[in-house]
Parts: sequence; structure tokens; C-alpha cells
Amino acid sequence: MTLTPELRGKLIEAVANCVIQHADELVALDQAIGDGDHGLNMKRGFEAVLADLDKTSALPTGEALKAVGMALVMKVGGASGPLYGTLFMSLGKALPEELTVPGIADAFAVAVDAVKARGKSDAGEKTMLDVLVPLLEVLRSGADDLPKRLHVCATEAAGATVSMKATRGRASFLGERSIGHMDPGARSSELIVHAILKVLTAA
Ligand code: ADP
Ligand code: MG
Repeated sequence: MTLTPELRGKLIEAVANCVIQHADELVALDQAIGDGDHGLNMKRGFEAVLADLDKTSALPTGEALKAVGMALVMKVGGASGPLYGTLFMSLGKALPEELTVPGIADAFAVAVDAVKARGKSDAGEKTMLDVLVPLLEVLRSGADDLPKRLHVCATEAAGATVSMKATRGRASFLGERSIGHMDPGARSSELIVHAILKVLTAA
């Protein structure tokens, strides 16, 4: 499969709009265990992505992902800007021209490793990686019923951060008091995945 410029545009637009529409929820989650800026950070970043939508969606998929990543690095700020920027830029670099499930899984593995390196973190620390790492495992487990399994995985993985204790990022300053709240970055990762799947399953 290769993406058409039209589908690329729809994907980028859907992801950006979904994050922007959930900005208040992401702010509320970050108010509970951080400094309350995650929703506004992400909204600012994805508004910048939307401003370049036509130009970006005309690029080959890898280049388009790199452009999205660059915009996020420059505009989101906080801890999550460099991390999401790294995710998208690394994915753009690693993604093969012809998209297959194993090829996407390999590229996503490279991108998740880059986030781990950038954040000096791993799954189990109550961050976006607690959604990204389980998603990689699902991608690696084959193509059968993949959209449904990815959708469920993103929801369950974000939900599972509620009972975790944060050991990275601002939420780690709260120690035990970080338990009982969903991680904002885990929720934004869930939202991004759901937006992608909604477009792909309708295409
Ligand atoms: P900040 O914490 O600087 O205010 P944001 O509020 O925009 O930045 O983003 C917070 C989110 O970033 C967290 O919910 C978490 O998912 C993610 N995060 C923070 N630090 C790390 C890290 N070291 N590794 C992975 N993800 C992280
Ligand atoms: Mg914050």
C-alpha cells in the first residue's frame, strides 16, 4: 500500500483536529499530575501542522511525517514536544516507501526506541511509552483484525496508566500521589492512534 496525497492529508487533518478537540481534556489530565499545559502544548503544535497541511500532504509519506515531527518539536514545547517530534521524525525516516504491516512495525520500533532514548525512559513509568510500546507489540503480532486490536490496545494501555506510579516526567514529582490519574501523554497517544484508525478503516 502507498498513501495518496489525499489520504495523507485526511490522516494529518484528522489527527490534528482530534488532538485540538480534546485539548481541554488533556489540560485537565495534566492539571491532576503535572502543570496543566499538555492540552495547550499539543493544540499549538497541531495548529501549526494544520497551517502547513497542503504543503505537507503533497510530500512522500516519510517526508510528510518528518515535517509533522519538525512542527511538533518547534511548537509543542514541554517534555512532550521533543518526544512526539522524535516519534514522528524517526518514523518518517524509517518508513519504507511501500507500506506493509511488518515494514510499519519495524519503522515504529525504530521510532519507539528513539523516544525511549530521548526521554531516557521505558514502558512502566506512566508515560506515552505505556501506550506506544503495547501498540508496537500488537503491530508485531500480525495483520489479522489489526485496526480493531490496535484500537482496543490504545484504550486499554492508556487506561492502565491510571493505576501506575510515575517515575518519569513532572508526574514523578508526585510519587504515590500520581496513582489514580491517567497519564496525559498516554491519553494523547491513544487519541492520535484512534484518529489514524478511523480514517484508515473508512478509506
Ligand atoms: P511537561 O511535562 O514538560 O509539562 P507536557 O505536559 O506537554 O510536558 O507532556 C507531559 C507528558 O509527556 C507526560 O504525560 C508523559 O506522557 C510524557 N513524558 C514526560 N516525560 C517523559 C519521558 N521522559 N519519557 C516519555 N514520556 C514522557
Ligand atoms: Mg505539562
